[in-house]
Amino acid sequence: MRIIMLGAPGAGKGTQAKKIAEKYLVPHISTGDILRSNIKNSTELGLEAKQYMDKGQLVPDSLVVSLVVDRFKEADCKNGYVLDGFPRTIPQAEALDTALNAISEKVDYAINVEVPDENIVKRMSGRRACLGCGATYHIQHIPPKTEGICDTCGNELILRADDAPETVLNRLKVYHDQTQPLIEYYSAKNILKEVDGVQDMKDVFNDIVTILEA
Ligand code: ADP
Ligand code: AMP
Repeated sequence: MRIIMLGAPGAGKGTQAKKIAEKYLVPHISTGDILRSNIKNSTELGLEAKQYMDKGQLVPDSLVVSLVVDRFKEADCKNGYVLDGFPRTIPQAEALDTALNAISEKVDYAINVEVPDENIVKRMSGRRACLGCGATYHIQHIPPKTEGICDTCGNELILRADDAPETVLNRLKVYHDQTQPLIEYYSAKNILKEVDGVQDMKDVFNDIVTILEA
């Protein structure tokens, strides 16, 4: 099962991707998490990516594509994966198709989690992230058991620098300009599925399971 999660920043891609990964026993591959882990470890890739991420811009395609293609080579990807935050541009989608064609594989579903822009800024300012394990919470909708502490690994939760409202507005613009065209790209391949991301997260997940098990 190879799945792509599409949607604006803050639409709930990561939240749903984790649940899909848990239920269907496939890895959750988040390019944002991989890049943040590189920043935390001060790798060369992390130092370069940070300049773009802090401004809410996309990291250049060449850096992100090789990172994902390398990740696919790991043993846990043999039965598929759920991609979260990749592809984010048409050239990334084309590079993904080329890499998969070369090994006679293809994407099964591109699931678009639809949330209007007006809901996004609120969601992002309430998001709290764990840099230890990648878990995500929301201070109102999905709070951790103990304020500021990750339920899963006990690390401190942070407000991501790029979740500040002014950066979120820039990320939304980047989304509409560069990522939204992927909806048409995957629709033309007949693998696009739409879910209403404004619903409660459990209902969003039920809709996704219905699609995957149809
Ligand atoms: P993305 O991966 O698309 O950027 P996240 O999964 O991190 O988005 O979700 C963004 C924020 O919204 C997080 O704080 C998350 O806890 C919260 N969230 C996710 N899904 C829902 C939902 N259905 N209703 C309300 N809040 C949600
Ligand atoms: P995310 O965690 O998916 O919200 O991503 C956070 C940031 O990481 C984005 O705003 C980009 O700067 C960068 N990023 C993550 N995935 C990609 C990608 N596929 N292409 C380019 N930049 C990316």
